[in-house]
Amino acid sequence: MRLRRLVAVACCASAVSLSGGVVAQASPPEPADLQLVATRDSLLATHYWYAQTFEGKPVLGGYYAKHVDKRTKRATVQDGRIPVSGLASTTPSVATERADATVDQQVAGDRAATELSVLPGPQSKLVYAVVSRTDRGSVRTIVDAASGEVIKTEDIVKRAEGTGKVFAPNPVASLQNEALTDQDDADAAVPAKAYKKVRLSDLDTSGYLSGKYAKLVGPTEQLAFQKNRKFEYTRADDRFEQVMAYSGITDAQRYIQRLGFKDVNNEAQDVTTIGFEDDNSYYDPSTDQITFGTGGVDDAEDAEIIWHELGHAIQDAQVPNFGQSLDGGSIGEAFGDWWAMIMSVPLQKDSATTPIACIGDWDATAYTDDTPHCLRRTDTDLKVADREGEVHFDGQIWSRALFDVYKAVGRDESARIVLEAQFSYTPDTTFAQAAETTVATAKALCGNRTADKVKAAFVARGIL
Ligand SMILES: [Zn+2]
Repeated sequence: MRLRRLVAVACCASAVSLSGGVVAQASPPEPADLQLVATRDSLLATHYWYAQTFEGKPVLGGYYAKHVDKRTKRATVQDGRIPVSGLASTTPSVATERADATVDQQVAGDRAATELSVLPGPQSKLVYAVVSRTDRGSVRTIVDAASGEVIKTEDIVKRAEGTGKVFAPNPVASLQNEALTDQDDADAAVPAKAYKKVRLSDLDTSGYLSGKYAKLVGPTEQLAFQKNRKFEYTRADDRFEQVMAYSGITDAQRYIQRLGFKDVNNEAQDVTTIGFEDDNSYYDPSTDQITFGTGGVDDAEDAEIIWHELGHAIQDAQVPNFGQSLDGGSIGEAFGDWWAMIMSVPLQKDSATTPIACIGDWDATAYTDDTPHCLRRTDTDLKVADREGEVHFDGQIWSRALFDVYKAVGRDESARIVLEAQFSYTPDTTFAQAAETTVATAKALCGNRTADKVKAAFVARGIL
């Protein structure tokens, strides 16, 4: 519990000389457990900020402020000290080096500071507060100084929100119009109503599209930068694709976390939309970066292409070096397509014009003649007997199985089962092994009835 006691209430001063510059002198004595950390001067008062200490050690989260009115010399106190009780000892049993070593094992990044502190509360603890610099900003790890165990790790970077304009998931699906074409990246090719204004969450305060779950990389002068964090561009502007990539990846990670997963590619995913002119995109596991090409329709103008590539990053984060066999590689392509569909479900109408199973409806206008324009579909009738030995083609067998799982148990449940199961796939898995793992996962998470539905989807493909 945090004590917030207002000791004296200052009234609104009506006749104050704002240019006064009077230094406050009279003020009540401070409690002994405080250490002055900052003095701030404002128009009306001088503000003294203190850290709470206990036997000389900082008390985490505790604060104390004294605001001295320049005119009246009257002090107002905000007492945010937190009671310390039940503290067994103020001498650590664990050495600083051991606490640091424990954090090194759990947090990727450089250690910046380690301080012996008190974690207050009814069962107060002596702890080490260890700050590390990671690729998504600084994090603080609290290590029990008695047992050496990690109590918690917390993000200390300030997060901000911005706004952006995006296609959701793409103009063909949102406008139900298969006749749209790229027209060399012209704004005029896509009606204004295809744009949706969205909230961009989890940004840092740099003014770049850099946040907790996605980070746009590339030559600095080409990166979108908005001090006010309003990233509102149209498609002819190359920064538009950067907003699409940031938004698509961040939304996917937030959905993954809503499903309960805290450790599925939970990082600032590096991504670039600059400098690759092919009509293709790729995820590179050796640099952990996604690159979107700008040939045809710019790939990052279609959120389903963004989610396909993110699918590769997700699997690589779950199983290092995933996809070393033909079946594993096929599952990789299949999952990306299916993940794109899963992310599109709440955004697009599943109609005859733009079926939900059709992936990359906008991107595919550049290289397909038939409608609906699809990079691939997740609802083909291909079975194991039809395989051709190419990962994108054979992947359609697996993605159809996952499509049936989605149809049988719904979006959230199918996503939970598939993501959970993938943690246990081997890098060189076969279809049958991965299917068995998925069925067993469905049983453990949701019970026999659901597991039977999942199994039926793989049996229908000839996988089980
Ligand atoms: Zn792929």
